[in-house]
Amino acid sequence: MRTLKKGSRGSDVRKWQSFLIKQGFKPGGVDGDFGQNTHNATVAFQKKHGLESDGMVGKNTFSKAAELGYDYTLTKIITPTSEKDIDKLFDNIANHFCKVVVPSSDYFKNSICSNSDLLYPSIRNKAEKICKQVPNLHIFETYRSNVRQLSLFKQGFSKCSQFGMHYYGVAVDLVFKDGKGWTWDGDYKTVRQLYKENGLVVLGMWDLAHAQIPEVKQQTSLRNIVKQKIKYYQKKCGIAVDGDAGKNTQSAFRELFKYS
Ligand SMILES: [Zn+2]
Repeated sequence: MRTLKKGSRGSDVRKWQSFLIKQGFKPGGVDGDFGQNTHNATVAFQKKHGLESDGMVGKNTFSKAAELGYDYTLTKIITPTSEKDIDKLFDNIANHFCKVVVPSSDYFKNSICSNSDLLYPSIRNKAEKICKQVPNLHIFETYRSNVRQLSLFKQGFSKCSQFGMHYYGVAVDLVFKDGKGWTWDGDYKTVRQLYKENGLVVLGMWDLAHAQIPEVKQQTSLRNIVKQKIKYYQKKCGIAVDGDAGKNTQSAFRELFKYS
């Protein structure tokens, strides 16, 4: 998405102005013209939220706004593109995995898990937002243990045998629910369009309901970064350093991160 600044015009400016008004600032109306008043209102918004106060609406300002309910639907969401951004993102995901996913009582669960706490926050927020936009759409599955992944693989339901993206809390399946229960017979064209607009990655049509954060070509890199992070914390705990989060590691991480 483009950066909005003094001189910008268009529907995205109008959208930004109406957001500022809702937040209690005074951009001087909703005219789609980013002038001095909108600049000042943007600076005030940035100051209030501890952002760099340059009056330009870029990635950081948009992210803060998104946390406050700013809706990106008309414009395309930014996905991290530079390698540095991806490293940072994957590092955060690895920390989330060690601190939240591994200690969870669902970590070894061998059935469908729809606990959204295990999702990395950005995909959780997006999934919840999309569910609000599409009638009867719900979070079906979030985290998936290796045991369950392997059993799905053996039954031919998945192309991945272990360490799938659900395992890391960076994939979600949204499914429709009608009077009779769960159904995949819904408007997935819209759902997949919303996934993409929110910067999520979709797979082939054989996996309609699925969305994930990493591109397929980034998956190996994510797995490695998580493995290194597990080793880092294992070392900290003084337990065997193998990069594999089994029962001992779970107990140690629960202790380390005061998980209850
Ligand atoms: Zn999935």
